[in-house]
Amino acid sequence: MNSPFLTTIDLKNTGTPPVDLPDDQNEIEEKPIIRIKDLSVIYFAGKNNESRALDGINLEIYSGEYIIFFGPSGSGKSTLLNIIAGLEIPTVGKIFVDGQNLAHLSSNDLNNFHRKKTGMVFQTYNLIPSLSVLDNVILPQIFKRVRSQERKKNGRILLKKFNVDSFENRLPQDLSGGQQQRVGIARALINDPPILLSDEATGNLDSEAAQNVLEIFNSLNLHEKKTVVAVTHNPEQLFYADRIVYMKDGKIIKIEINEQRKIIRGENEYGGIKKERTELDLLLQAYPDLSSMQLQVMMAPFKAKMLVAYLLSNFDYREIEIMEAAVTRRLLKTISQEELFEIFDSSIESGGVGLNKNTALKFSALVEEVAVKADFIQEEAYGVRENKKSSFERTIDEVRKSLLEEYNGELSLSQVAALNKGIEYRLLSKIGKNEFQEYLDRPFENGGVGMNKRSARNISRKFEVMMLLKFGR
Ligand code: ADP
Ligand code: MG
Repeated sequence: MNSPFLTTIDLKNTGTPPVDLPDDQNEIEEKPIIRIKDLSVIYFAGKNNESRALDGINLEIYSGEYIIFFGPSGSGKSTLLNIIAGLEIPTVGKIFVDGQNLAHLSSNDLNNFHRKKTGMVFQTYNLIPSLSVLDNVILPQIFKRVRSQERKKNGRILLKKFNVDSFENRLPQDLSGGQQQRVGIARALINDPPILLSDEATGNLDSEAAQNVLEIFNSLNLHEKKTVVAVTHNPEQLFYADRIVYMKDGKIIKIEINEQRKIIRGENEYGGIKKERTELDLLLQAYPDLSSMQLQVMMAPFKAKMLVAYLLSNFDYREIEIMEAAVTRRLLKTISQEELFEIFDSSIESGGVGLNKNTALKFSALVEEVAVKADFIQEEAYGVRENKKSSFERTIDEVRKSLLEEYNGELSLSQVAALNKGIEYRLLSKIGKNEFQEYLDRPFENGGVGMNKRSARNISRKFEVMMLLKFGR
């Protein structure tokens, strides 16, 4: 364990040894919901036209992750997705879903498994043309013992959720592509499966309808904890994923972690997965000639996405889109705080978000606070390098005050001192986000700040957003 943080805090505090943090090895506790081991799918094995659709795949996917399989046509993405769905059988190797070895299931059990554990969305929607929209959605429940009235009720709830309830008695062909795909999503969810699989679900859609579908997946993943595994060859969609699995010629050639999204989710790292490069590192590598100023501009939309995700919990994806665009413009300082408020406040019809005045005020103030505090951190961080100690202390004070707005409890003076120490170490990157959060939560007697779990999480999230806005961490 390489944490200078623990020993230092220990000296400063009561002298009680701190609770040992789990190291990376111990963190592998959570079981993957999908586990693929040495798996190959071989067509015409041994013949001279032998083709390996999948070749030695090893992959673990954790519950609640959003994974994208990315790669050129023919790279094996669909085959891998079908394997997870239980629709194809591996030639070699193993696939476990929810602890179940799919090879051990009879074909009947495999069907049941497929219906219960996975919902699938396809590029061409795959709706049955002769059935009404509602019947398409509830069809997967016909095999379950669910009463007809109950089935219809469940179907209508989903149709309403995806804003296609007014078409329930129409045939699929009467609907636009985007609407049909939302019916397809409703069908995929009718049995409430934990895993949602999508094979180029946006491939046939115009960009607005595609965006709409992606935001639905995003929300199902973030708010309903669905594990999403999506296939795409469109690089614009990659930022939705927690991890991107790059495929070529039936092999996984690289797995990338999307740090930005992990922070949006406010979650700990998944067991065992090591931190990889940040967005800024990736951009720097991709565009070595750009100045950091230019990179900051390029990152503004990502940052805006994160900031908006932080502000929101239960918003409509259309509103979120408008907010992100507005916050991006504010971060780039092309609009003023007042203009941002205007956009938040004015109605959807006139291009705004349609928040009520109070919420609009609160949100625009929060954007200012977080963005302005982030400016402050950056200026002062340069001060640190020049050894201006007093101004660094001022930064810590500012940051602490801002963070404590998320805290309802009382802190003693020694707790405040402990909190300052944690902020200092986090600002200097001596500790990571998880350590910081754990430190806030740890009892004061054990060398922590002694807050509760919830506050520790909220505060560390806010801090990370502030840091990220400035440094792209
Ligand atoms: P992707 O979805 O990335 O475009 P696929 O998984 O559909 O790729 O296909 C991977 C490879 O396997 C391709 O070369 C394809 O031609 C081959 N393949 C897929 N299905 C079959 C099949 N039934 N018979 C022979 N080859 C197949
Ligand atoms: Mg495919």
